[in-house]
Amino acid sequence: MILIVDDKPENIFSLRSLLETKGFQVDTALSGEEALKNVLKKDYALIILDVQMPGMDGFEVAETLAGYSKTKEIPIIFLSAVNTDKKFITKGYASGGIDYITKPVDPDILMLKVKTFYRLYEQTLALNEVKRKLQQEVESRKQAQEELKIKVDFLHTVLETIPQIAFTADSNGHITFVNENWFKYSRSTVDLPEFHPEDTLIHTFFEKHIESGEPFEAEIRIKSVISNVYRFHLLRIIPIKEGGRVSSWVGTFTDIEDQKQVESKKDEFLSIASHELKTPLTSIKAYIQLLERLVRQEGNENVSTYIHRAQDQVIKLESLIADLLDISKIENGKLKVNFAPFDLESLVENAIDTILHTHEHLDIRIEREGEPLNVDVCADVIRIEQVLINFLTNAIKYSPGTEKVIVRTEIKNGQAYVKVRDFGIGIPKEKQEHVFSKFYRVEESSVKFQGLGIGLYICAEIVRQHNGTYGVESEEGEGTTFYFSIPLN
Ligand code: ADP
Repeated sequence: MILIVDDKPENIFSLRSLLETKGFQVDTALSGEEALKNVLKKDYALIILDVQMPGMDGFEVAETLAGYSKTKEIPIIFLSAVNTDKKFITKGYASGGIDYITKPVDPDILMLKVKTFYRLYEQTLALNEVKRKLQQEVESRKQAQEELKIKVDFLHTVLETIPQIAFTADSNGHITFVNENWFKYSRSTVDLPEFHPEDTLIHTFFEKHIESGEPFEAEIRIKSVISNVYRFHLLRIIPIKEGGRVSSWVGTFTDIEDQKQVESKKDEFLSIASHELKTPLTSIKAYIQLLERLVRQEGNENVSTYIHRAQDQVIKLESLIADLLDISKIENGKLKVNFAPFDLESLVENAIDTILHTHEHLDIRIEREGEPLNVDVCADVIRIEQVLINFLTNAIKYSPGTEKVIVRTEIKNGQAYVKVRDFGIGIPKEKQEHVFSKFYRVEESSVKFQGLGIGLYICAEIVRQHNGTYGVESEEGEGTTFYFSIPLN
């Protein structure tokens, strides 16, 4: 809208008609004071201002407008009949006007100027808007940078306080920060600690993970720059993602040397102890068998019962020692499986018979479901039977007072599946993933039921060696299904 300010209504009338015929919206004021009031209330793209007015003259109005931030950009054309003197024209420009026209007004010239200033004003507004947005953008970037710096400083402080060696790297894996502990294993801030010659493959894995953006974890030996001795560390590298893209990495080396030493001593002890226990146990077993034969000949029922009980306990002891021996074999990578073809169905039947025989005193049925496994598989028959017997023993052990256990067999996707389902105490959801770990026992049931927590760990290792699969499904209080599968070929 254009504002015409003139104290003579007839001047306003002619100008207004001229502008309106050209399609402009027009507002008017009969004095400088009225013009100022209008300007504060409405937005104008151009003001045509008469210089000679009673009260505030045109120059004063222009000077006032130049002082307000809202109005200082509005272009002003001065109109004057009298003051055509050069010094008035200069004053007009000095007080903020953009152009100066003397009366009588040439309508064509006026229209040309009005159009030009109008367009100029619109462009100025657009430019101001762009400037405002740019400023906003710069501000928000500055703020984001400051926030990022605070976060990075915080992360570095945290990394300095932890006992581990810690570092950060950019998205390409180049190191950007290291904490003090780093210098116990590396002399420079850019080089990784020296890896043991047998662990150098880690570099390749590390590079692959950097490419794929996946977290990385490995046990490696690194060399201390102080003692020149290698110590086992757990290396963990985690990606930091921003908008789905890896922006940096945070890594730690945790010293696990002492833990490793204790573990290896424990494994060594287990291996020696189970070997040493085995020899006297074999003798005890043989003597009990001899005793049993003698007592049978004499027909003493009572003694015979006790001897059977002693035999049962010896069998349990034997299986415990066998498990302990298996554990040490697994640790040393010496758990051997002897592959040979055999009929899986007869293995399942044998295992069920053995279990029924050893649990004669219990009132529990073992039912079969699914298709019989009349297929020859190439596997270690003794080890696979061990897995099934373990599942069945657990199914009975952890289901006191229930009537049955179901063995379901099926062939699917080139694998023979054996599932053992019980209706016992079940396993809490969050604990299920741990039951195949070494020495793991579910806390809630560990007091009531005896065990070492190694049976399932051995089963998992045996199935892994057969390239099979294993798992557990369970509902607390409803029962549990353990399964394993082995490939048919
Ligand atoms: P153990 O039975 O000697 O403790 P296992 O390795 O065979 O060791 O089993 C590990 C743990 O898994 C057990 O301590 C028990 O808490 C849980 N578990 C195994 N089988 C069952 C089952 N059928 N029902 C409920 N819990 C089970």
